[in-house]
Amino acid sequence: MTNPVIRCFPFGGVGEFGKNMMVYAIDDEAIIVDIGMGFPEPGQHGINITIPDISALDELGLKIHGIVLTHGHEDHIGGLPFLLPRLKLPVWGTPITLALVKHKMDEAKFKPELHPLPDDGTLTQVGSFQVEAIPVTHSIMDAVSIAIHTPLGAIIHTGDFKFDPSPIDGRHTALHRFARLGDEGVLMLCSDSTNATASGSSASEGSVGAPLKQAVSQCSGKVVVSTFSSNMFRIQQIIDAGLANGRKIAFAGRSLEKNVEITKLMGRLNLPDNQVVDVKKTEGIPDQELLIIATGSQGEWRAALSRIAQNHFPTLRLGVGDLVIFSSSSIPGNERVIAGLYNHIYRRGARVLHSRQAHLHVSGHANAHELKTMVQLTRPKYMYPVHGEYRNLVEHQYLAIATNVPYENTIIAENGHSVEVTAEGIKHGPDFHAGAVFVDDSGRDEVNYAVLKDRRALAEEGMITVVVLIDQHEGHVIGTPELLTRGVLNHEFSEETFDEAAASLRVYLETFDQETLADMDAAREEVRLWVRRWCKRKLGRRPMVVTTILEV
Ligand SMILES: [Zn+2]
Repeated sequence: MTNPVIRCFPFGGVGEFGKNMMVYAIDDEAIIVDIGMGFPEPGQHGINITIPDISALDELGLKIHGIVLTHGHEDHIGGLPFLLPRLKLPVWGTPITLALVKHKMDEAKFKPELHPLPDDGTLTQVGSFQVEAIPVTHSIMDAVSIAIHTPLGAIIHTGDFKFDPSPIDGRHTALHRFARLGDEGVLMLCSDSTNATASGSSASEGSVGAPLKQAVSQCSGKVVVSTFSSNMFRIQQIIDAGLANGRKIAFAGRSLEKNVEITKLMGRLNLPDNQVVDVKKTEGIPDQELLIIATGSQGEWRAALSRIAQNHFPTLRLGVGDLVIFSSSSIPGNERVIAGLYNHIYRRGARVLHSRQAHLHVSGHANAHELKTMVQLTRPKYMYPVHGEYRNLVEHQYLAIATNVPYENTIIAENGHSVEVTAEGIKHGPDFHAGAVFVDDSGRDEVNYAVLKDRRALAEEGMITVVVLIDQHEGHVIGTPELLTRGVLNHEFSEETFDEAAASLRVYLETFDQETLADMDAAREEVRLWVRRWCKRKLGRRPMVVTTILEV
């Protein structure tokens, strides 16, 4: 290996946010860093997640030794339940990351080969690769950057990071180790571009603690706080704010309960058992002694907060004097849905406090100043910005140039464009196929391209179109919904069968209140699911269901 060729294959997360996956190869030997999933577009209710399309992986002719994980966020590990059973590769990760992966793979009924990834400066052998994990601060515990040692120098894949000088758990970014790698010679820096367009430095996670405490202290009723369910630093601070104000803590939302349980089991969450109440048993506890942490800050319609806000949560009723705190940001594209959620909360009589009104949220990603510091510490020969949309990558490229990386030593290569580094220089290599695979949340074992799936459903199961008319002013359903079928009717199922379905759908729709009907996305999805369930029960089939709600 005197003159090796080093290649990078971005399968996801470069030129987009989400489903991060990078393959690094030295000649024909390779490792994968992260296999994430993408988040649904707002309104894309049927198809819930995307994962990297790895169909080109075989064609690359690489011997892949394993998967190394930077941290446990869904956009870095969420693809594993779908792709690990196919890849059957060993996985390396830090304690919290591995605990989250283990839980996911248990649910997927696959037993992965998991290996610890020490971040104390020791090297880990992954097949023929030597990798080093470096602690970084981020909005989840145990995040690391990965240094991959190559004969031409180290490749540093930062993963998501920021430089938080006072982390909640005292686990600091190991700045000195980035500097040491810089001294030894860094070949290439592949760094997180998420916040490249944000100036200055990100605020410390700990800075939201006092504002949270203050907000809780000013409320005389129940407090509900919503945040991202994987950020245990934030959840710890919300718990502390509740306890400091004499409130018991309840958790609403499956992912949140799971993450709290995992973190508590590992001794990483400080919450005495006698201060926790089951969210289903909060009746009888005075409002001013209760704080509920709930999932659904992005307005996800099936999440706990949406259900609480619409009075669909069995044991919690919001009312006058209650406060809902959003310790979160709006993911771009979700604003309209979140505004709708605020409206539901205000209709209950409660009030909303969000991060544009008070300092209740900080990002987990490095801003421009920190990104430049990363370049200065590591002094890479080449700079390859990753994790972000095209605009973020280019801004990050210019930050590196401003930090003395020559323009010709920087590269922009989105998903599907390979990068080649040799002793001579860096250049674009051949393109490869790197698309997205859509996964339907209702049948997690089914992984199909959306188009193939639609075609198959149409060919095998037929299609039902449901049309519901709503009186815009009165807010009720007009007449009986219409069900039009194609390829579903045969001698077993007559038209009367569908007339019955339409009649019982009408009865179901009459249980909707005005508010639910006004939320068109949610109403449409409720109708779609009802018809799907009906078809499965009565016909034993799963036709494609298209719902149209018309306001007249
Ligand atoms: Zn992350």
